[in-house]
Amino acid sequence: MGTPAADVLKPDFAASRRHFIFTEEHDRLRESIHAFVTKELAPHAEEWEETTFPDSVFTRMGELGLLGLSYPEEYGGQGGDYFCNLVLAEEMVHSKSGGLAMGVAVHTDMATPPVHLFGTEEQKQRYLVPAIAGERISCLGITEPDAGSDVAGIRTHAVRDGDEWVINGAKTYITNGHRADFIVLVAKTDREAGHDGISLFLVDMDLPGVIREKRLEKLGMHASDTALLAFQDVRVPADALLGELGKGFYHIMWELQGERLIGAAGCVAAAQRSFDVTLRYAIERQAFGRSIGRFQVTRHKFAEMATHIEAARQLVYTTAWRFANGEYPVREISMAKLNAARVACDVTDECLQIHGGAGYMKEFGIERAWRDMRLNRIGAGTDEIMLDVIGRSYGL
Ligand SMILES: Cc1cc2nc3c(=O)[nH]c(=O)nc-3n(C[C@H](O)[C@H](O)[C@H](O)COP(=O)(O)OP(=O)(O)OC[C@H]3O[C@@H](n4cnc5c(N)ncnc54)[C@H](O)[C@@H]3O)c2cc1C
Repeated sequence: MGTPAADVLKPDFAASRRHFIFTEEHDRLRESIHAFVTKELAPHAEEWEETTFPDSVFTRMGELGLLGLSYPEEYGGQGGDYFCNLVLAEEMVHSKSGGLAMGVAVHTDMATPPVHLFGTEEQKQRYLVPAIAGERISCLGITEPDAGSDVAGIRTHAVRDGDEWVINGAKTYITNGHRADFIVLVAKTDREAGHDGISLFLVDMDLPGVIREKRLEKLGMHASDTALLAFQDVRVPADALLGELGKGFYHIMWELQGERLIGAAGCVAAAQRSFDVTLRYAIERQAFGRSIGRFQVTRHKFAEMATHIEAARQLVYTTAWRFANGEYPVREISMAKLNAARVACDVTDECLQIHGGAGYMKEFGIERAWRDMRLNRIGAGTDEIMLDVIGRSYGL
């Protein structure tokens, strides 16, 4: 006798199943990060919009082991896998501050990964270990006033002088630039060699000639600090070179893949958070004698958003799984980043609309999510650059 049809076909609209990339350990990590973020960070979201978040957030996260989740224990890390970083990025959205989440992600998933992968043992001891402990804050300097998308077009250059390099140039839009103790700096070491003439340097931010110029004013991400930096005859020792001489372009392209995936995971989680907040609002808010969520048009908006969020999440997770297993799927990472950023912008826009006038008011937090999310279609590679990478991967 077969199984009764009713047992097989019972629909389940609310199944909550852990995605296959995560384990029970990730669940426990998620719970503990969630508790920390909601208790210690979220209550300050409004205040830090005005003041930017304090450096003590790094100290505290270092104490809790959250700045080195996937780094080896010998450097003070937790020895976890790449998915732990995804969990961190996802849970940081509950701080209700895109700027805070970004400042931390720049440190954990943008500036320190090249130190871990390409650094010498001495560089790891000097920069990675205190960064994981939350004692030294890092930033990443790629973008310049005259070159953003076109990384090979940068002008900042390092010239060898005996046992030293002399660095001149400027970097802009640098997250953590005002608070950072060191920068992973992208500079030209051979102006004639194109992509092969770029190298990475580890530069202490208190060296003579490093000038932290303007604190830049922005549309969103107000809790983060964004700097215009100048480098005037900055002398660094020969061993400040990070990775191979002339391979900096390829090193930074590798770094960008991890950065884009983490950013994409954050986008999906932020979209989900706005969705959840708005769902509660739509159930409570009454108009014309019913909750606004019961209008078919609103119901369909939620259905559209949920579908896009879920599709974006699956693409991010599957691509992260490939990346964590040693593949280098640039096309899919670009797709995941492009799609997640668009979904986050579309969803927060729709959520703001569903809130009506309340969505435009600061106290509901949706306008902040809307402003914060907009960066994701620009930072870490614009939509247009992602489309170009994807298009070129087909030989076009
Ligand atoms: C808040 C914030 C924080 C940031 N943090 C950092 C950081 O910490 N470190 C860092 O190095 N950078 C950082 N950035 C810089 C960011 O990565 C760049 O802004 C981004 O890469 C785009 O470069 P750009 O601004 O120079 O734009 P541009 O490259 O000048 O692009 C302008 C427009 O032209 C389009 N375009 C350019 N080239 C092409 C092409 N080939 N095909 C089609 N369209 C094209 C772009 O898509 C865009 O629409 C940050 C930016 C912001 C706004």
